[in-house]
Amino acid sequence: MYFQNINNIIDLINIKPFIIAGPCSVENREQINEIASNLNKLGIRILRGGAFKPRTSPFSFQGLEDEGLKYLKEAAEKNNMFVITEFTDSRQLDELYDYSDIIQIGSKNMFSYGFLKQIGKATSKDSKPILIKRSFNATLNEFLLAAQYIINLGNPNVILCLRGIRTFEQIDSKMRFTPDLASILELKDMTNLKIVFDPSHACGDSKYVIPTAIAAINLGSDGVMLETHSSPETAISDGKQSIKPEELTKLIDYINHNY
Ligand code: PEP
Ligand code: MN
Repeated sequence: MYFQNINNIIDLINIKPFIIAGPCSVENREQINEIASNLNKLGIRILRGGAFKPRTSPFSFQGLEDEGLKYLKEAAEKNNMFVITEFTDSRQLDELYDYSDIIQIGSKNMFSYGFLKQIGKATSKDSKPILIKRSFNATLNEFLLAAQYIINLGNPNVILCLRGIRTFEQIDSKMRFTPDLASILELKDMTNLKIVFDPSHACGDSKYVIPTAIAAINLGSDGVMLETHSSPETAISDGKQSIKPEELTKLIDYINHNY
């Protein structure tokens, strides 16, 4: 099985390619436990799940917040997994720091320079990995400079996550964003930081997720992050782009045969 014996998050993200999987949002204790247990059976070691959800609409589900993060951590611990979750304000850095092994900065916060500085400062003591997502309207230079805010404050462990950019897809494509796959190649020429590709948000449709993840790995992405849910039809957020845990076997088999 894939990665089962590694007990340190830094060692885990040094294995290429690594997989991050889990639901868009933590919905309740049973949901996250079931998903974590199914991912653990596949050998997946990094569990994602949103507890603080910066949604486009204030009327959409905003996440279970602190309670959700506690369920996420509990599910990860029970299943020998590490946690990645998005933080959206400095209160979380103060009070919930130990609940996440990798802190995610969402695409909407990529330009929040004050928050980037707070994260850089808070994580300089232990260099906890930070995964920063590219804004859908950021150039690659803007993206790298956002990462540099964190690095300049003393944490070099920044992971760049590509998740699709906005072009013409709202007009004649059914994809949610335009997958910025070739940016993997360009970023590799520009930086030594690790790169993760998120095909779920990039494509917005579960049927495109695995082939796009495979393409990202073949282009040299260090890792992939996929939204995974036991019943995507009933997911509170992003069900359309979520795959079932068992669908990951295709990706795992591909990696096992080719890497
Ligand atoms: C996420 O990965 O949970 C997310 C909200 O994605 P993004 O910030 O890319 O929209
Ligand atoms: Mn999502």
